[in-house]
Amino acid sequence: MSSADPSCIFCKIVEGQIPSRKVYEDDEILVFHDIHPWAPVHFLMVPKTHLPSLAQAGPEHEALLGRMMSLAPKLALQEGCRPYPEGGFRVVINNGREGGQEVHHLHIHVMGGPRPWLKG
Ligand code: AMP
Ligand code: ZN
Repeated sequence: MSSADPSCIFCKIVEGQIPSRKVYEDDEILVFHDIHPWAPVHFLMVPKTHLPSLAQAGPEHEALLGRMMSLAPKLALQEGCRPYPEGGFRVVINNGREGGQEVHHLHIHVMGGPRPWLKG
């Protein structure tokens, strides 16, 4: 569950085999801009280890997920979202086919900036 999946596009981004526009990185988390943004600010937050979706998250992932959620507002401001409450951003995690998930490596979408947005 925690090792890299050689067929996974986000594992390849984590390992630098596919380029990305990096927003943030630490030991456990990589954040990069979405290649097809739905909003003026749109980046993806991924754990460096391969976890297919939120459906596979267990107690061992609680600290990591908590860190990712508390990092989201800081990075949203850094990337140009205006402050709460006038500004803001949306946090989305798609899960499974019926949940709209296309890449099966857990990722948090953070989207913001002036509306109207084209999608999302
Ligand atoms: P989801 O539908 O929630 O699985 O979202 C997958 C997201 O990954 C989409 O918004 C894609 O635009 C984005 N995406 C796919 N490939 C790349 C890539 N190479 N670099 C950055 N974002 C990507
Ligand atoms: Zn992966």
